[in-house]
Amino acid sequence: MIKMVNEKLLYEGKAKSVYQGENDEEVIIKFRDDMTAGDGARHESMGQKGYLNSILCAKIFEIIEEAGVKTQFIELTEPCVMKAMKLEMIPIEVIVRNIATGSIVRKFPFEDKTPLNPPLVQMDFKADEYHDPMLNDAIAKALGIATQEELDKLRELALKVNEIMKKMFKDIGIILVDFKIEFGKDKEGNIYLGDEISPDSCRLWDAETMDMLDKELFRQGKDDEVIEAYQEVYNRLLSDEEKAKFN
Ligand code: 5GP
Repeated sequence: MIKMVNEKLLYEGKAKSVYQGENDEEVIIKFRDDMTAGDGARHESMGQKGYLNSILCAKIFEIIEEAGVKTQFIELTEPCVMKAMKLEMIPIEVIVRNIATGSIVRKFPFEDKTPLNPPLVQMDFKADEYHDPMLNDAIAKALGIATQEELDKLRELALKVNEIMKKMFKDIGIILVDFKIEFGKDKEGNIYLGDEISPDSCRLWDAETMDMLDKELFRQGKDDEVIEAYQEVYNRLLSDEEKAKFN
């Protein structure tokens, strides 16, 4: 069981809870099994999701860090429990799209599944009460949530993360369609990749069958296929040694 009873809850998201860490520089992020869609209109508990996502996120952050992008990740102390740097999160969802699908196809006249070359970087304001509206630089600056320099840096880092992850997934027979990431700043204002990257926050298609291997299954009501899909990503991305670590 996860020992969280005496921990100070700092923030509760839809699928994760953030607690005060051992010192003021650290937080503990707990990955839960909760899954929501449609602005929280649907809410289910998906057994094993927290376990799988926490291990996948740790592995992905390690790969990204090794490729030269600073991340919040410190250590997965046990499944579902991640030690991370405490950051001031920037309320922007940075979305990178390699193929047009999802909300971009509903909002603009893109044909579904059109390749986007170069990849498209989109920024949404992370605010449930406004339904995460799409930002532009002028609005982000007027809201005071980021400077021009920071917005440029977020785009540069997002594209770098895209290149790293595209290759990482290609190597295991998966197409990275799109994904959402979030960033935060340390006390000196340095920008780090934060939050999570997992099948909850990416669209992933099997390169051979084009089957979905991500949260889109849940959004489409195929709840019984979700965990099997996440497990498939886990099986392909983790080595046997890595899988044995938390078994
Ligand atoms: P779309 O804007 O097409 O719905 O989503 C684009 C990509 O960003 C998808 O991979 C989707 O999973 C991810 N994404 C967008 N908004 C959110 C969000 O609020 N939470 C999570 N976990 N992922 C999101």
